Amino acid sequence: MNLHEYQGKSILQKFGVTIQRGLVAYNADEAVDAAKRLSAETGTKWWVVKAQIHAGGRGKGGGVKLAKNIDEVREKSAAIIGMMLKSPQTPPQGKKVHKVLIAEDVYYPGASETKEYYMSVLLDRATGKNVIVYSTEGGMDIEEVAEHHADKILKESVDPRVGLRPFQCNKIATALGVTGAAKKSMVKFIADLYRAYEGCDAAMFEINPVLKTSDDKIIAVDAKVRLDGNALYRHPDYAEMRDKTEEDPIEVEAGEAGLNYVKLDGNVGCMVNGAGLAMATMDIIQLSGGQPANFLDVGGTADAARVEKGFRIILKDPSVKAILVNIFGGIVRCDRVAQGVIDAYQSIGDIKVPIIVRLQGTNAVEAKELIDKSGLKVLSAVALQEAADRVKEVLA
Ligand code: GDP
Ligand code: MN
Repeated sequence: MNLHEYQGKSILQKFGVTIQRGLVAYNADEAVDAAKRLSAETGTKWWVVKAQIHAGGRGKGGGVKLAKNIDEVREKSAAIIGMMLKSPQTPPQGKKVHKVLIAEDVYYPGASETKEYYMSVLLDRATGKNVIVYSTEGGMDIEEVAEHHADKILKESVDPRVGLRPFQCNKIATALGVTGAAKKSMVKFIADLYRAYEGCDAAMFEINPVLKTSDDKIIAVDAKVRLDGNALYRHPDYAEMRDKTEEDPIEVEAGEAGLNYVKLDGNVGCMVNGAGLAMATMDIIQLSGGQPANFLDVGGTADAARVEKGFRIILKDPSVKAILVNIFGGIVRCDRVAQGVIDAYQSIGDIKVPIIVRLQGTNAVEAKELIDKSGLKVLSAVALQEAADRVKEVLA
């Protein structure tokens, strides 16, 4: 589950990380009010208006703007709220901005230079360890740095048996080249950031930029946070942070029906029971020259109601040109599923795309008979390859 910047920052603050403070606003009037309140609290003279969407690269798309007086706060908030913000991380048409964060300006001049660093914590699946990724080259061009100057991206992995050790925080701060009071703050920043990552069962915390201010504070200016959805039951207060308007509406609907659905770019819809079988099905579609339009795991109880819901969800995607149903009947009998498919087909009515059904397992033969006799535009198959070949035929 992805969070907004302001939500990620509120978690960081709870764990003692210093953040660029701000207040959320849903319209220009609220933005002006927020700016005034923020100045009263923090003494900031300038403000940054920051679009809150689930995507990075907002600065590049015009979603982060400095405001030097209250009129500019109003003007810039009015322009950003409601805009379709396009960044390298949004869909091509952009994402609609519903709210902004009015943040204090932390790039004020002072005794020393400001400096932007990059830092993230995530799970390295190859080693099975958490890893802290960091760089002296933080800021808006980090993707470019990663691509062309990979040596500037450093990693520190954390042994899960002992956790993050103080010497590691020291090592990172040293490698980043911070000194004096700033170094002490950086060491604390890294330790607190890591505690936040572990403490809320996050899948990722990315802070870019981590800013050294001109008065040597270390501040999280941005926060891109993804929580582990499977651990949310342990954090009801974080579960409330979910913003469904930022998610794919079909995925939300599927989730509410208890179906595990992920939309993909292809043209063959798949309905499968079990995640492993779903992956194998997507592979065989690909090998047969098709492209899976989705991942859909209907779960162990593939009854008629779930099958119908699955069909309805797959059919909402206009790029679907064929549907492959691949169900293994272990506990659930294949003839029951076949009847479910037939019922769903009749209940939905006007299905224009060909459907290929492959049922294997208990009562597979009876199931095939039911499908073949149904008189519907449903093709049956018993072997997986046979099903894939049929997909190929109908796409040709
Ligand atoms: P992103 O583009 O989605 O990653 O959004 P960020 O929150 O990282 O902001 C983008 C850029 O805006 C930062 O890299 C900074 O250069 C700039 N920025 C952020 N906060 C401030 C601020 O307080 N003052 C000024 N002058 N610039 C800021
Ligand atoms: Mn950023």
